[in-house]
Amino acid sequence: MKILVVGGAGYVGSHAARILDRAGHEVWVYDNLCYGHRSAVPKGRLIEGSLLDGAKLTELMQAKQIEAVMHFAAYAYVGESVTDPSKYYGNNIGGSISLLDAMVAAGVKRIVFSSTTATYGVPEQIPITEQEKQQPINPYGFTKLVIEQALADYARAYDLGYAALRYFNAAGASPDGDLGEDHDPETHLIPLVLQVALGQREQISIFGDDYPTPDGTCIRDYIHIDDLGTAHLKALDLLEPGQSLQLNLGTGRGASVQEVIDACRRVTGHPIPAVISARREGDPPELVADSSLAQRVLDWQPQYNDIESIVATAWNWHRSHPNGYED
Ligand code: UDP
Repeated sequence: MKILVVGGAGYVGSHAARILDRAGHEVWVYDNLCYGHRSAVPKGRLIEGSLLDGAKLTELMQAKQIEAVMHFAAYAYVGESVTDPSKYYGNNIGGSISLLDAMVAAGVKRIVFSSTTATYGVPEQIPITEQEKQQPINPYGFTKLVIEQALADYARAYDLGYAALRYFNAAGASPDGDLGEDHDPETHLIPLVLQVALGQREQISIFGDDYPTPDGTCIRDYIHIDDLGTAHLKALDLLEPGQSLQLNLGTGRGASVQEVIDACRRVTGHPIPAVISARREGDPPELVADSSLAQRVLDWQPQYNDIESIVATAWNWHRSHPNGYED
């Protein structure tokens, strides 16, 4: 298929674009390079532009005879979404609607959308199934939920086929060592811990050790970035106009902040000093996926099932790219 990967210069999008390319699809990346990296996109495949430029998107889809869209372009800093909601509503909702309208205008019928565990807010049941109530507790999660709803409405009205894939904690890097995580600012646990091992930070702060979990630190379900990419590929293969999928993508195994730091110590051989600091606002104690539906529907299994093997790929990337991408 000819696929437009929107936000394909970012962390999740660039890994997914490579997996689509290797599976034989023709991949075009559309990105404004606000957070994405030019060198994460294969040469000649990048079209720079804004999601809000609907005319440009429509023209591009027609010119390249696009058959499916993967939509990764979003702002994703939870804290910032609270202090600057305008940025999140404008881009994550306004931009996504502009993209959907361009698809309708160009007659493109399939879309895979990056959704998030943040749409669940504080879940009532762990592990979290797709039946859990979606009650986001921050604007970021809310913007993603609004687009899930828009997709359902557009699918009904305009015969779109869509998958809303709700990621847990994307982590790790391509085992090839040339694609990886490079955020500015970096807020995610694993890259921050590895920056301590690289000597770029003195210590890691553990945000709270008084949660109701076995070691008192928060538990998350870290899923390898290539396992996410493979799930996107499989979801696309299944999509038909008018059909929808809503799926959790996680491993079903949780790791605490303390366990992640210990895994980083084992992988890097560095002592990685850690200090306990205050809880970060809005952090639920535990988020672990029940992704059995995705496993069944997509015939998909995460290949990285333990935190240490995920951290090993991240370490390979950070060690060889201590300052991230060249650009
Ligand atoms: N965390 C931490 N110290 C840090 C960064 C993150 O203790 O410097 C914790 C955070 O509170 C959460 C977990 O690590 O419990 C994963 O956070 P991250 O920001 O990587 O992902 P999130 O779960 O917020 O999407």
